[in-house]
Amino acid sequence: MNEPSVILKAGRDKPVRQQHPWIFSGAIERLPTEAVDGTIVDVRSAGGEWLARGYLNRKSQIQVRLLSWQADEAIDNTFWQTRLQRAITARQRFVASAETNAYRLVNGESDYLPGLIVDHYADYLVMQVGTLGIEQRKQALAELLLALTGCKGIIERSELALRRQEGLTATTGLLAGVAPTGPIAIRELGLHYQVDLEQGQKSGFYTDQRENRRRVAAYCQGGRVLNAFSYTAAFAVHALAAGAQHVTNIDSSVDALTVGEEHLRRNGFDPDRQAEQIAGDVFTILRDWRNEKVEPFDMIILDPPKFAQSRDNLDRALRGYKEINRLALGLIKPGGILATFSCSGLVSADLFQKVVFGAAVDAHRPVQVLEWLRQGSDHPIAITFPEGEYLKGLICRVL
Ligand code: SAH
Repeated sequence: MNEPSVILKAGRDKPVRQQHPWIFSGAIERLPTEAVDGTIVDVRSAGGEWLARGYLNRKSQIQVRLLSWQADEAIDNTFWQTRLQRAITARQRFVASAETNAYRLVNGESDYLPGLIVDHYADYLVMQVGTLGIEQRKQALAELLLALTGCKGIIERSELALRRQEGLTATTGLLAGVAPTGPIAIRELGLHYQVDLEQGQKSGFYTDQRENRRRVAAYCQGGRVLNAFSYTAAFAVHALAAGAQHVTNIDSSVDALTVGEEHLRRNGFDPDRQAEQIAGDVFTILRDWRNEKVEPFDMIILDPPKFAQSRDNLDRALRGYKEINRLALGLIKPGGILATFSCSGLVSADLFQKVVFGAAVDAHRPVQVLEWLRQGSDHPIAITFPEGEYLKGLICRVL
């Protein structure tokens, strides 16, 4: 089969041969005049050798996203079905269980489906469309996903900043099947939560932290825990289930805290007696507590939003990470635990550890790293696509 050809500049073929899925405009010598944006193109070296196949978008910095490196593989319905099934099989075998029915089903580039993110919540799916190539095929993909999973409905929540760079606007709504009538109940490692697929932040629940919640909770027996950037209190529920005495949740979103209270109740905990919900800015509150010399905690969990949005604000982001870690270290009892995360892809695990090191030096606290944490296995990273790595965390003992 032959698709319209994109010709690379001389010497720019190595990443394509190594199966990196992105081709930036700077690597391209010539685009096919006949192909409209979104269609399938063949990518060839400067010498004309066939290298890969993907979809085109001239409006994007990333002009081609690659789907296949096999010359005889057509990008047809069978292709999409096989790729989706491959992603689904991994989750069904390694993640889904009687205890867990919320997980990422398709993880974009790292599932060799660039631009497509799908989350599975009980009987429903949520799709995020990041590129024009997927946008043009989303209806067929949604129907395939319903057929392959047996789910009741699939909702689109494409609010990614990324879409602007693809010439797309935000889109939400039902794609196929039926919409849930309200928030739906989900299970994570045997604990109970609800997700509002149409209103929740991101796609409603951070499944990338599933295993980390269990790892962190293992250290909180009998302790007073501070869960900063709590969102809907998932770390708090895990901590109380693992025997924490009390959890203080802090988040700037009152709505998230309200859902968090409901999550505590759902799991049999008393949100007034066993927990406290504080609406406000973590930086300000921790500074106030330091000045007021409040009683230190046995454990502090820091799971902030992505501070580093781009290289331009990386320095500022690093100062933010250092500052909250420094403040938290000052509010932990000797022998207590700091569980600290960064979900900024631009901050590598190495760099994050250096930031925590800097915070420990400034806080004058000896810190031991007990565990290194990453995103869960339903958020795999294709080894050809290191950009897929974003979540990292450390469980530290503070002496
Ligand atoms: N730990 C959560 C996910 C946290 S997402 C979980 O396990 O589900 C990040 C959260 O930080 C969001 O809920 C957002 O409302 C909150 N947030 C962002 N900036 C904040 C700030 N400066 N102070 C307090 N909360 C903040």
